[in-house]
Amino acid sequence: MRLSQFFFISLRETPAEADLIGHQFLLRGGFIRRLSSGIYHYLPLAFRSLNKIIHIVREEMNRAGAQEVLLPVLHPAELWQETGRWDQYGELLMRLTDRQGRDFCLGPTHEEVIVDLVRRSVRSYRQLPFNLYQIATKFRDELRPRGGLIRAREFLMKDAYSFDRDEAGLEISFQKMKEAYERIFCRCGLNAIVVEAEAGAIGGTDNLEFMVPYPEGEDRLLQCHQCGYAANRERAQRSPSPSFQEALQATVNCPTLEKVFTPQQKTVEQVSGFLGVAPCQLVKTLLYDADGQLVAALVPGDKELNEAKLQRFLGQPVKMADAHAIQTVTGASVGYSGPVGLSEKGVRMIADYDVALMSDFVVGANEDDHHFIHTDWRRDFSIDDFADLRFAEAGDLCPKCQSPLSEERAIEVGHIFKLGTYYSEPMRATFVDESGQERPFVMGCYGIGISRILATVAETYSDRDGLIFPITIAPFECWLMSVEGEGELVAVAEELYHHLLSARIEVAYDDRLESAGVKFKDMDLVGAPIQVIVGRHYRAEQKVEIRLRERRDQPVLVPVQKVREEVSRLRSELYQRLDPDKG
Ligand SMILES: [Zn+2]
Repeated sequence: MRLSQFFFISLRETPAEADLIGHQFLLRGGFIRRLSSGIYHYLPLAFRSLNKIIHIVREEMNRAGAQEVLLPVLHPAELWQETGRWDQYGELLMRLTDRQGRDFCLGPTHEEVIVDLVRRSVRSYRQLPFNLYQIATKFRDELRPRGGLIRAREFLMKDAYSFDRDEAGLEISFQKMKEAYERIFCRCGLNAIVVEAEAGAIGGTDNLEFMVPYPEGEDRLLQCHQCGYAANRERAQRSPSPSFQEALQATVNCPTLEKVFTPQQKTVEQVSGFLGVAPCQLVKTLLYDADGQLVAALVPGDKELNEAKLQRFLGQPVKMADAHAIQTVTGASVGYSGPVGLSEKGVRMIADYDVALMSDFVVGANEDDHHFIHTDWRRDFSIDDFADLRFAEAGDLCPKCQSPLSEERAIEVGHIFKLGTYYSEPMRATFVDESGQERPFVMGCYGIGISRILATVAETYSDRDGLIFPITIAPFECWLMSVEGEGELVAVAEELYHHLLSARIEVAYDDRLESAGVKFKDMDLVGAPIQVIVGRHYRAEQKVEIRLRERRDQPVLVPVQKVREEVSRLRSELYQRLDPDKG
């Protein structure tokens, strides 16, 4: 491709809208342009990369036996109402109304739509199992789009849905997808870590996320480098500290409980500031409603309760108790709840492991404008259960081997779910088994952010001058330029361009009438992996400079006749690393 004929618009300045480095380079390099908040054009450079990502995803999905379809983007509200997600999905759902007043949404995910297709077309166990996937545009009305293509409101995604007769079948389908995903990310040059995760708005039982470590990533993951345990922050479990058992048996060594006046002091910050104690010397009492039963969850003042852990421990969904329920049971307004006397009122008391290690702490006194100081749980109130209730953090102990966990930030690039019958039951999607029984389909669903892969590569492969693409998904494999716009060097570059094309190398040839400085800058900004420069070495010794974008400081000088051979060699070497089939 000649750049003079290519729709290539690079920018010298960094656009103010770009928060992350990769996003800045994608804008400056002319890969993408913003149409509106979280909505982007993919220009030819980006589209070339995206098509390569799509090709890799398609190859691996087909290899795993999945079949490609294309499902509607516009979904009738009735389908989403069947599963309750029309309401549960909330503001993230892009909703619209047609001329007859019927409600629709633009699909952010396709469980309802595919279950509807399958329940109307598949009747017998003989038609199972199968896995259908699509590569299509998805919509999510994000409040705060971020990082360009990382969190956009309109984005490209691959989503797949497996249908099996039973859990054993689902396990096989799930493992196939996990392996396909590992190959996909590897071929795209991404070092994705597989972590346990919470199901969130998708539902189901087990699920795994694929995370690429990145300091500016939105997600956090906890890892044990001893045994390999890895989970995202929402899901990560921890073992109690070694002194936990000891603390359960310890004798009370705490001054007598004392009620103190704390006017208008409700939050942890206010109370700790007012009383002059550290937040870690407070215990927060959070009241939840678990299907009519009130539950008090206790965590240290400086830690955050993880509601998903509370739900998992109780084995049922919970919601925060409302102000009225709190007033009724504690006799005080929100902000003054405390554990003393709650058990006697029928509240189930659950405390985080950390609370067991505490003594002489501050709690709400169940009376407006009052707190207790010198509280000890062994003496002043009772606890039904100790559990892992707070978010795990670096230094906590691995739930499997008790080694310290480390924490890092990451970008989520894929997520696979065992859904089981989470959708097929409410939507009455059944098949007839060997014995003539109606049974619900056992499902899995599997997502990959296609445009997010491009964004993640841009974030994780760059230096101060621009992008450094892995060859498998680079818009061009090779970038050719001469340091002059006309004359002898141009003739050499023209000749090389034809040589490279004849060797089936994807080459971008910068034949624009621009200064050498501009051409060098653009070459580094776009980040094609192999660079060929016809310049001062040609004048001196008839040699051309070839270098890898990732090692710009180590060029080799090659006679013109050898350029094609050398570029082909480098090309194979780069493919060998990520995609041996292609190398
Ligand atoms: Zn471990």
